[in-house]
Amino acid sequence: MKAVTILGSTGSIGVSTLDVISRHPDKYQVFALTANQNVDVMLQQCQQFQPRYVVMVDDAAAAQLRENVKVQNLACEVLQGTQALEDVASDGEVDYVMAAIVGAAGLLPTLAAAKTGKRILLANKEALVMTGDLFMQAVEQGGAELLPVDSEHNAIFQCMPSDKKMGIERIVLTASGGPFLHTPISALENISPAQAVAHPTWSMGRKISVDSATMMNKGLEVIEAHYLFGMKPDVLIHPQSVIHSMVSYSDGSVLAQMGHPDMRTPIAHCLAWPERISSGVKQLDLLDVAKLEFCEMNFERFPCLQLAYDALAAGGTASAILNAANEIAVAAFLGEHIKYTQIYTVVAEVLASTSVQSANTIEDVLHADKQARHRAENIIKSL
Ligand code: NAD
Ligand code: MG
Repeated sequence: MKAVTILGSTGSIGVSTLDVISRHPDKYQVFALTANQNVDVMLQQCQQFQPRYVVMVDDAAAAQLRENVKVQNLACEVLQGTQALEDVASDGEVDYVMAAIVGAAGLLPTLAAAKTGKRILLANKEALVMTGDLFMQAVEQGGAELLPVDSEHNAIFQCMPSDKKMGIERIVLTASGGPFLHTPISALENISPAQAVAHPTWSMGRKISVDSATMMNKGLEVIEAHYLFGMKPDVLIHPQSVIHSMVSYSDGSVLAQMGHPDMRTPIAHCLAWPERISSGVKQLDLLDVAKLEFCEMNFERFPCLQLAYDALAAGGTASAILNAANEIAVAAFLGEHIKYTQIYTVVAEVLASTSVQSANTIEDVLHADKQARHRAENIIKSL
């Protein structure tokens, strides 16, 4: 029986994780659930999974949940604040931590899990993008096991031998192209938040959905792959999202992982690894898919991807700056304060006007993150 903490349990990945766990009550037990402020969903999850601890980061949400838990006579203890996230990620009784908080807010609790040697199921790519080598060092020093949940990275992981990584020529991340693959570039300016979050193949949280539309998500994934696999990947557009990524070998073999676009597959893979368990995802029948298409990346349509390649090449705090500026810009777009195309403008301007420092400590990264957010907010005000 493995004790699991789910950071970000009320989100898209969190809910899918609980769905898989609910199919295997003999294997996994929920130790702690965490969320920012969604009391209604968290209360339902407490009723169904009876965690020992629940964290609501927001104080008012914690107070409300505490009241509801008391009325319903549930046994879980409600904690609040950001330190509690780290506490439930590093508790001595925890075996596995699903890192599924969105954005930089997931960094410190995920690092806490790394330092205390947990199996980390990594969905929160932003944590790795921000801290790169520092995060990988924490994993190694803490004796943690880092398994990628992000579908592309999970696919690559599945297509690589676990011990001897020999003869790998290249890794290829597939990208669906998002909702605007065929939209005239001149029309992108007037895209609404509702249009941007309507992803054609994946159902996800709002922030990552916008990142998928701008291709910043693929940019973050290029950086994520660099740290996970020690290689800079190529990117290929594949609109059907059936092949989740590929590894090419020197003998001409190309190994690809396929499946329906449903995150329960990589989640189940990381929970059970190296074994396999059922995930609730139906088997893929290629006759239903009929055709698999591929096309080259278009950097004019998706300029955010180039920013990510540039940040990776710059090193130091550049990826943290990119991530922070993007988080602020996407939130501003979702709040209808800037246009869709200005997400790129904001991130590009922040990167161009901020000097990259070396990232020797987590404090260096957090400082760069704060500075970039501030800079992005000022640029947004001036637009
Ligand atoms: P989501 O918005 O649906 O859920 C986010 C979760 O994080 C919620 O539980 C929310 O309460 C919590 N949260 C938000 N802000 C917080 C804060 N400041 N402090 C603490 N908790 C906070 O997001 P999602 O789509 O589930 O994505 C989660 C992560 O997984 C992201 O990093 C995303 O890039 C990654 N990911 C998601 C998918 C997907 O299919 N959804 C696929 C690959 C990777
Ligand atoms: Mg992905």
